[in-house]
Amino acid sequence: MIYIPCYNVLTLPDVSCYFRLDYLNGMSDQPVKAGDKVLFLMLKEQREGGEIEAEDIYPIAVRGAVESIDNQWALVHTTNRVNLDSIQVEGKSFRLEMRMRPDLNDLDPDEKEERFQKMRSAMLQTFQGTQWMQGDRSYMQRWKNMNEIVTFTSALLQISNEEKYAILEEDSVARRTELMEKAFYESLELYKVSSEAQSAQQESNEKLYREQALRRQIDFLQKELDDLHPENVTDIRKFEQKIQESGMNETARAEAEKVLNRMKQEGQESHEYGMLYDYLDFVTSLSWKKEKAAEIDLKAAREVLDEDHFGLKKTKERIIQQIAVMALNQKQSGSILLFVGAPGTGKTSIGQSIARALDRKYVRISLGGVRDEAEIRGHRRTYIGAMPGRIMDGIKRSGASNPVVVLDEVDKLVRDYGGDPSSALLEVLDPEQNSTFTDHYMNVPYDLSDVLFVCTANTTDTIPEPLLNRMEVISFPGYSALEKFQIARRHLLPKAMEKAGIREEDFTISDEGLKALISDYTMEAGVRGLKNRLDALCRAAAVQIVSGSSSRVSVEPKDLRDILEVSPIRHDHILETKNPGIVTGLAWTQAGGEILFIETLFTKGSGKITVTGQLGDVMKESVQIAISLVKAMFPEKEELFEKNDLHIHVPAGAVPKDGPSAGITLTTALASLVTGKPVPPELAMTGEVSLRGVVMPIGGLPEKLMAAQRAGVKRVLIPEENTDDLRDVAEEVKQELEIIPVHQVQDVLRLAGILEESTQDHTQV
Ligand code: ADP
Repeated sequence: MIYIPCYNVLTLPDVSCYFRLDYLNGMSDQPVKAGDKVLFLMLKEQREGGEIEAEDIYPIAVRGAVESIDNQWALVHTTNRVNLDSIQVEGKSFRLEMRMRPDLNDLDPDEKEERFQKMRSAMLQTFQGTQWMQGDRSYMQRWKNMNEIVTFTSALLQISNEEKYAILEEDSVARRTELMEKAFYESLELYKVSSEAQSAQQESNEKLYREQALRRQIDFLQKELDDLHPENVTDIRKFEQKIQESGMNETARAEAEKVLNRMKQEGQESHEYGMLYDYLDFVTSLSWKKEKAAEIDLKAAREVLDEDHFGLKKTKERIIQQIAVMALNQKQSGSILLFVGAPGTGKTSIGQSIARALDRKYVRISLGGVRDEAEIRGHRRTYIGAMPGRIMDGIKRSGASNPVVVLDEVDKLVRDYGGDPSSALLEVLDPEQNSTFTDHYMNVPYDLSDVLFVCTANTTDTIPEPLLNRMEVISFPGYSALEKFQIARRHLLPKAMEKAGIREEDFTISDEGLKALISDYTMEAGVRGLKNRLDALCRAAAVQIVSGSSSRVSVEPKDLRDILEVSPIRHDHILETKNPGIVTGLAWTQAGGEILFIETLFTKGSGKITVTGQLGDVMKESVQIAISLVKAMFPEKEELFEKNDLHIHVPAGAVPKDGPSAGITLTTALASLVTGKPVPPELAMTGEVSLRGVVMPIGGLPEKLMAAQRAGVKRVLIPEENTDDLRDVAEEVKQELEIIPVHQVQDVLRLAGILEESTQDHTQV
């Protein structure tokens, strides 16, 4: 006898069932062969490890015999139920005492047959066409009774192990049939419900599979096409991947995919291909991912600013404030600083330092000469040769979405037929609008709100009001000779040497040499020319070192002329001689401050006035005011103006000068002319004047005073209202000049020696 203990499987009597041989052998204590008698035991529960104990076995079992073995299958026929009177288990072998347990045949055989047929057709119908049925169909057709159906499906019935045993235990065939039907039909319904849900799921899966299949198909066709045009392949694959990886927003991705599809259709011979290529190359090279701001360390930021630039204390402090405010607001941008000053005063390079201090990418966008709005905002792609605007182009070059952007020369934007570039710039700088800045070329919005913009300009005069209002002006007045000396020693010279590949021990320039270089070979507010001169010195030294003519080069003032191959600059120096009608004035130009001479002359005539030199309209008005003032102050000299022609000349100089700041100079020159009293050339002055003779404030005082000192001026008259500006003037400049604030034009004339000194005291600063 071979024992087959089963759990959750119900084997009923009068059943012919195929079992897999390995399944039977796995459960029985020995291999089965044809003719073996078997006993199916039902287990109450399954123990881990498969060990069975006596109390695990239900007391009713089913007897049978192996009819045949065919390949991997054993055909087993069961005959009847038995009661197990005693059960002993030792390891895998059992010792059992059993008795036959008869059925109570209380069901009409016809009805029994009818109900069996009904169950079988329900089964066949439900599983019609499912994969599950294919192999088992003919087997099912051979079923002879309900017991076979239940045995065959018992593992799948949705009832518990005890309920299954309850069926086996039932003696009444009628009752047992009812139990079997209940279990079967309920399970069948459950199956149907869940399979409907499954098929709904399947439907959506099918859609997905279909889509995947179509995509595979497209890929396949694309590959075929690619094989025909191998030259297109790499571009398209490359962009597909770049679009995937770019982190673009939805709109941008949709646009890029549209263009990519066009590119696929067009092929490389198409004249549009290049344009499509450029577009994709541009948008996929932009950084679309939001970068996180690096932790802000104010102390380190300060160190970076000090390391890169000498001086500029106020500017650096304002930058540190900006950084602190950004940190507190947890923002990557803030107020827009506008650095205003002459070329070479460090405006751009301090922008670069800000980026370094914040550990962010840096890019410089030059706006000089931009006259077309499209240069800021891009050309629409429908134009031939369309390009992105300078802003987006700069962002792309930076390689980040949060760079520090220096917008250079915002004062050089030109309003023209091409629209107003400054209004486009306004949009770029407006935090309300710049999170969706749309370049016409890109045609999709890009978020500029994390970009930190810094602007530079030589003057605020030409910046449109609305744009100027957006920005906070920080002025760079230029450097004194002493500051230039320090900048050259600490920054420019080491850099120039490094650029020329010169070692520290191979080159020196004495302090006197450097000072001479600054005073005699440069004339500027900034240090750009000085930097160029130092570069030139280092290049010349490199030649000497390499050619072996000298292993160590040292430069003294006398050597400069030969090495640089230029003569020293002749500065506008104060005049040597005193002549009535000539006065030293001070002007502000975009290149820094300058001294100028106002020359006046009477020639025989009839009251004509000639003004020559480079003068703006405003200065011409100053001429009128000066004449009226002088006539009023010296009524006895009025005749001179009637009997002579007056000629006023302001030597042109290199840069045009404008502004009314020459008012007191003009007045003084005329007063000197009419009185015949010369004004000392070492006295310079700047200030506007009103018809009432009040001296009015002017701009650019620091630059003007630096120019005065450079030119050898000793005393300077400035408007009283400008006294506060003296804070921005370098100490050494103030030390060398006698600066006298004046309020009335009479004071000016007295200090110039034209009017008699009164007892009134003037204050010296
Ligand atoms: P700007 O933008 O005002 O025309 P740049 O920033 O281009 O001037 O400066 C010209 C050169 O001078 C740069 O190489 C810069 O590093 C250097 N420079 C200017 N000011 C300073 C300074 N205070 N300290 C060190 N280098 C300076």
